[in-house]
Amino acid sequence: MQSSLKIEKECPQCQGCGKIDHKPCSACNGKGNVLTEEGQSILNYLRNSIRLSEH
Ligand SMILES: [Zn+2]
Repeated sequence: MQSSLKIEKECPQCQGCGKIDHKPCSACNGKGNVLTEEGQSILNYLRNSIRLSEH
């Protein structure tokens, strides 16, 4: 099953392995994937709605 909405993608710095020269990749913090622009906007939206619901 494929979704048209991708919130994460393979990290372009480390090609998804999470490490560069045996050190954790700084672009993805060693996770191997990074948020896409869509992912970031979704997270921002979620954070904003959480913030709103606290009041
Ligand atoms: Zn990386």
